Amino acid sequence: MMTKSKVVHLLSGGMDSVVLLYELVGDGCMVYCVLFDYGQVHKQELDWARLHCQRLGALFEVLTLPRLRGSTLTDGSGGVIVPVRNAAMLTVAVNVAAAAGAELVTFAANKDDDAGFPDCRRGFVMAFNNMLATCDIRVQVATPYWDKTKAWIARRGSDMGVVLSQTWSCYRGGEAPCGECEACRKREEALR
Ligand SMILES: [Zn+2]
Repeated sequence: MMTKSKVVHLLSGGMDSVVLLYELVGDGCMVYCVLFDYGQVHKQELDWARLHCQRLGALFEVLTLPRLRGSTLTDGSGGVIVPVRNAAMLTVAVNVAAAAGAELVTFAANKDDDAGFPDCRRGFVMAFNNMLATCDIRVQVATPYWDKTKAWIARRGSDMGVVLSQTWSCYRGGEAPCGECEACRKREEALR
């Protein structure tokens, strides 16, 4: 996929970005993970993210963003997203990559994120990369899983020996996943 490249990987601690981390390390990439504390209630995800970095010997850094606010979707579904969250994180990750001489930032956006999350869409990533090129920045964002479903990612993770129960998807900050939010529902579908 991206053998021997130096990459900065956006790692949330969710299933998709954790599986992609194993994939990148398995491909021989030199991976530097950036984890973000943006005031999310589901801070558990950062603990899982750290655990996988340590298990793989991948370097990582936890960066703090100002608290990002949720906003109800205008489509009437009642769903809540954090507007431009990925744009904010990718911007910081690109800054880290540019300073480190890495040319790629990897991001586990996938087919099943496309509908619910505007800043996981192909068009968003293309526009973001165009913005970087316009600014003469040599870093590009790569989304190796953009055409993969979460079910595929779950299978791939199992094949690589990733302990999927050691990832966190739920948007709520409970002791256990709520099983009701958008992220929990998608994860359960994928693992079915
Ligand atoms: Zn949940």
